[in-house]
Amino acid sequence: MEYIPSIGQNECKRWSIVKKTDIVIIGAGAAGLTAAVEAERLGAEVVVLEKMPKIGGNSLRATGGINAANTSIQKKQQVCDSIELFIQDTLKGGKNKNNIELVKTLAKGSADAVRWLQNLGADLNKVSRAGGSRVSRTHKPGDGKAAGPVILSALLKATRKYDIPIKTQNTVKAILIDDFGKIRGVLSTEGEKHYVLNTKAIIIATGGFAANSDLVAKYKPELAGYITTNHSGATGDGILMAEKIGAKLVDLEQIQTHPTVTPTGGIMITESLRGEGAILVNLKGKRFVRELDTRDVVSQAILEQEKSIAFLLFDDQIADNIKTVKSYFKKNLVIEGNNIRELANSINVNPDILKYTIDEYNCNYNNKYFEKGKFYAIEVTPAIHHTMGGVMINSKTEVINKDNKIIKGLFAAGEVIGGVHGAERLGGNAMTEAIVFGKIAGENASYFVKNK
Ligand code: ADP
Repeated sequence: MEYIPSIGQNECKRWSIVKKTDIVIIGAGAAGLTAAVEAERLGAEVVVLEKMPKIGGNSLRATGGINAANTSIQKKQQVCDSIELFIQDTLKGGKNKNNIELVKTLAKGSADAVRWLQNLGADLNKVSRAGGSRVSRTHKPGDGKAAGPVILSALLKATRKYDIPIKTQNTVKAILIDDFGKIRGVLSTEGEKHYVLNTKAIIIATGGFAANSDLVAKYKPELAGYITTNHSGATGDGILMAEKIGAKLVDLEQIQTHPTVTPTGGIMITESLRGEGAILVNLKGKRFVRELDTRDVVSQAILEQEKSIAFLLFDDQIADNIKTVKSYFKKNLVIEGNNIRELANSINVNPDILKYTIDEYNCNYNNKYFEKGKFYAIEVTPAIHHTMGGVMINSKTEVINKDNKIIKGLFAAGEVIGGVHGAERLGGNAMTEAIVFGKIAGENASYFVKNK
């Protein structure tokens, strides 16, 4: 071990050297577990290190689903989509700041990613539209359950089938390279124990940094003090570790807010509700934005309203299609009314104006919402949700250094990578990114260690 970044050689000598493995995967979210299953399937020996007590990261919180074009599910539901359309929507959403090669890889691999998850047992039999997509492309469980837990449980089952060790509460502190820039291992901690795990290849799948308020404020000062929808482990460790060994970072200032988060508790209200017909009104009871516009546009529109808040309105018909809504009731986030006027009074909005807004909405879009049953409202405001920037990779998921050369043996996948989403990520594209690039990373890391 000739070179230990950031920690120093003397200190490293005190660390115990534990056994070797072919590939270390840092992070047990959707990207890390996908990479682990693929690498192990191709014959490599893999260890997954996860810093939190439970696996899943932000992927476990994903309610919407996974975007894919040209799937059998879309065909069954007569959705006319194409790889080209998927690419165009992603570039438009990203304001053309995206890395085009990575966008092509994302779109081309998307249908295969959904098929692969279905083969692992994930129910993704329904498609609906998410903000910024021109057609129904977001694949989700047919029974209305949240997509993240369904996908994670299929991935976890696959890791068990292959007997892949996943070590939770193991925090990787540094990536080790030698004087020749070769990957040597990772420095990690488990409670009081510090150790080195030697390896030939590393896949960084540590997610983003939306829960690291210092880093967020550093790269986008106007977001200082915002609440976040992310789990507490989303602190950008992989980005910082990769940077220390010379990786090139891109688009770190591109940080997404999710428009519909509860002001207290920071609970994200799924975009699927708006996909099913829920509307946003301000304190005057008026609509002020196209509900399915991209997240930046909807977030900005809410910030421009009085008190920077809005109410998300829905009825039983909309709620029945989305199981996650039950948890909003359990958490007491929902205000109810037996009719529009009652609801308007409960949220301090002029009943006549609200009634007019809803009649106009139904008339303009030929909808039949808010006609019977109870009516509901959830107060929402934008919160930091996703970090689009991160480690630069090529379409083989190899990490690129500051001289635009690959760092041999170092791969990255999932939210930790930068460039796929450009200036703004479309709802449903995070899971596609995790699975598509996770699979490529697993495959290429496995070829890499075999051909060494
Ligand atoms: P993705 O969607 O890219 O898979 P997730 O947020 O779902 O991203 O998963 C990333 C996982 O990486 C999280 O479970 C997080 O706790 C884990 N992680 C982050 N930093 C470290 C670290 N230093 N060591 C080990 N695991 C980490």
